[in-house]
Amino acid sequence: MTSADNRPSHSTEWLFCIVLVLVLSACGGQRGPLQLAGNAMGTSWHLSYMAPAVAVDRSLVQAGVEAQLEQVEQSMSTYRDDSEISRFNRAPVDTWFTVSGEFYSVLSAALAVGRDSAGAYDVTVAPLVDLWGFGPSMGEAVLPGGEAIKALLPLVGQQQLRLDGEALRIRKPVALTLDFSSLAKGFAVDQVANWLLSQGIDRFLLEVGGEMRMSGLSHRGDPWHVAVEQPDSATRDVAAALSVTDRAVATSGSYRNYFEMDGRRYSHSIDPRTGRPVIHDLVSVTVIHNSAMMADAWATALIVLGADQAMAVAREQGLAVYFMRRNEMGLQHSHTTEFVPFLAVEQ
Ligand code: ADP
Ligand code: MG
Repeated sequence: MTSADNRPSHSTEWLFCIVLVLVLSACGGQRGPLQLAGNAMGTSWHLSYMAPAVAVDRSLVQAGVEAQLEQVEQSMSTYRDDSEISRFNRAPVDTWFTVSGEFYSVLSAALAVGRDSAGAYDVTVAPLVDLWGFGPSMGEAVLPGGEAIKALLPLVGQQQLRLDGEALRIRKPVALTLDFSSLAKGFAVDQVANWLLSQGIDRFLLEVGGEMRMSGLSHRGDPWHVAVEQPDSATRDVAAALSVTDRAVATSGSYRNYFEMDGRRYSHSIDPRTGRPVIHDLVSVTVIHNSAMMADAWATALIVLGADQAMAVAREQGLAVYFMRRNEMGLQHSHTTEFVPFLAVEQ
């Protein structure tokens, strides 16, 4: 059975309870997929996979996944002092800093999303993320004053970065700092997925902190079933049932990571153009893309853009996106035409 019901029935089981995207799996007697899980990148990961023709020991798969995640963390985590990104952030201005090929390609992808989102997305947003208490320094939730915000704006702006693709090195003319939190998990999903494929594991559903990638057919012999959850739902109601394979799915929610002060909600999505957290009625964005890194980055970019601009940019870029906004009229859903093939048809 495909799971397009509004909530899990007797014949469905919840494989993962991710905050926003839940995985549904029918258990109609077929041999279920193997399950592995762990913690990395400040979050959890889950893998469901069908055993390949040439058996691979489960403990080797576990170790392989962990090694891939560790490598990404050691390069891109701002929570580690000795990561590549932290060393770049501390490096002196106006000197070339050599980076790994992975780092360079993630930065290049981020800069492209920054350009195509007219600056709504910008990985040099780090000082503002910190100022608002969402960064590694995790300050107290105090509302920064206008002056403090203004003082940091010159230290934000990706156009200031200099890149040398030949020598794989980057340079900052002012004390810019990078924050890859918005796409590193997606990149990690891609890296793990590529490693799994290299091991002959080509039927899987992988999730790292809510960002997912599916490959091949599920144990039922059809695409994998995932569901977008209603925002703010204690009961984990399903907003949209999806049927996806050989693609990645990423969701950003402006309500997911936030603090409240004086009755107002401040989200961890910061508009680099104003220096302030976004406040608007777009509560959830789900992007389906070939690359988990791009899905992850675009989900954040679209959340920052807000409903109207996000829809315009998503159409312009030909992205498959599902939006949820909440206003006086309640919860409203919309999607681009590219998303239609992934909406599960009720049976
Ligand atoms: P999650 O980590 O919940 O999946 P996202 O993928 O949306 O969320 O990433 C949010 C993180 O991205 C923030 O915690 C912050 O570090 C960073 N960030 C916030 N605003 C922006 C922005 N405008 N451009 C790029 N990165 C941002
Ligand atoms: Mg993101």
